[in-house]
Amino acid sequence: MKVLIIGAGIGGLCTALALRRAGIEAQVFERAEGAQEAGTGLTLWTNALRALEQLGLTEALREFAMPYTRAAFQTPHGAVLTETSTLSLTQAPCVSPVAIHRADLHHLLLNALGRDAVQFGTRCVTYQQNQRGVHLQLENGESAYGEALIGADGIHSMLRTSLFAGSEPRFAGYTAWRGIARFRHPHAAIETWGRGIRFGSVVLSQDHTYWFATRNESPGHDADAVTRKQGLLTLFHQWHQQIPEIIEATEAQSILHKDIYELKPLPHWSVGRITLLGDAAHAMTPNLGQGACQAIEDAVVLAECIAQYPQPEDAFQAYERRRLARANRILRQSRLLGQIGQWENSFLCGLRDLALRATPPILLRKQLEPIVGYKIPSAIPVGSVRSGRQL
Ligand SMILES: Cc1cc2nc3c(=O)[nH]c(=O)nc-3n(C[C@H](O)[C@H](O)[C@H](O)COP(=O)(O)OP(=O)(O)OC[C@H]3O[C@@H](n4cnc5c(N)ncnc54)[C@H](O)[C@@H]3O)c2cc1C
Repeated sequence: MKVLIIGAGIGGLCTALALRRAGIEAQVFERAEGAQEAGTGLTLWTNALRALEQLGLTEALREFAMPYTRAAFQTPHGAVLTETSTLSLTQAPCVSPVAIHRADLHHLLLNALGRDAVQFGTRCVTYQQNQRGVHLQLENGESAYGEALIGADGIHSMLRTSLFAGSEPRFAGYTAWRGIARFRHPHAAIETWGRGIRFGSVVLSQDHTYWFATRNESPGHDADAVTRKQGLLTLFHQWHQQIPEIIEATEAQSILHKDIYELKPLPHWSVGRITLLGDAAHAMTPNLGQGACQAIEDAVVLAECIAQYPQPEDAFQAYERRRLARANRILRQSRLLGQIGQWENSFLCGLRDLALRATPPILLRKQLEPIVGYKIPSAIPVGSVRSGRQL
């Protein structure tokens, strides 16, 4: 089988890698001219690390990724509301989540995959499927043919919007800034929650910190780089000392701004020989740090299903049975966490802080474990799926 993939983001690259490792031909089409060079950081929880282990990337990750061993919530004055050791989040000892520069992750995936697998500078414009395969029309006038097509083309997926009417992204109600500071951070991920404003930071390397900030705002507001940095310094000037220091230690030009959008959970991702993956299927708010982690889980499971079933339609049904409920559940949980984190009402924020203070670390771990301590179950034998057993 030859599989066509639209999009060389984390989801598309991991899928191509997983397919090629299973001996299945995969070709990726990416509209950007080359590999991602810019960008900020990304946290990868243990569920994603386990999936990447199945792709043979553990050693390479060790070189680029920075583990952190503590996760904490704080008040704007710096008081700790609740914290937990991230080491104890999984049954496997000594596996902690990591932070990594997005460009490093892209390069690492491309190197493992082989650059021949990706056709850069190639925008896909339309497709046509029939009983035997899928024709993909490219903007440069060429076309490609495969037995199956995967849309890993992100939150604004052209494939999804043409397959599923009304699946356009919705605005989450807040906007986000991200940056990398020359700042020595403890080996931890720390979130500070105010009223309608949040700040998060995590160690990225010995001397660098990845951070993000969010604020309730209508979409479409932005400023030039210097005004953006100045605005953030003003917004956080009364927050605990570390936060203004981190913003100050960030180059203004490198601060990225993005309004936060998400998808409503979809009931299906596949139509015939076409399916969706990653943000194209379940773009979620970044509150749980799970968007890319879920895309990586998708990739491993989808490749297993394609390897297991001779017909793409059967493979995609099995993929949905194994992935859809979990990804949609995490999408909803992430949305809820963001809504609570962005509360502005001082009474509600007071209650929220009290609840966080009263949350023992064990309860925090219990809430996180099903999401981040997850290990992809190995494929169900073909016979049991065909006999209709619930997965
Ligand atoms: C502020 C913020 C912070 C985040 N932090 C985290 C985090 O810490 N941890 C985490 O796990 N997730 C995080 N996420 C989510 C994560 O970034 C996404 O879930 C992930 O990048 C999705 O990967 P993807 O490959 O599905 O899509 P994308 O990364 O969007 O890739 C899609 C690719 O498809 C290409 N493309 C689109 N249309 C076409 C076309 N027609 N033809 C050819 N190519 C096309 C695009 O150019 C792009 O390269 C965060 C998101 C945000 C917004």
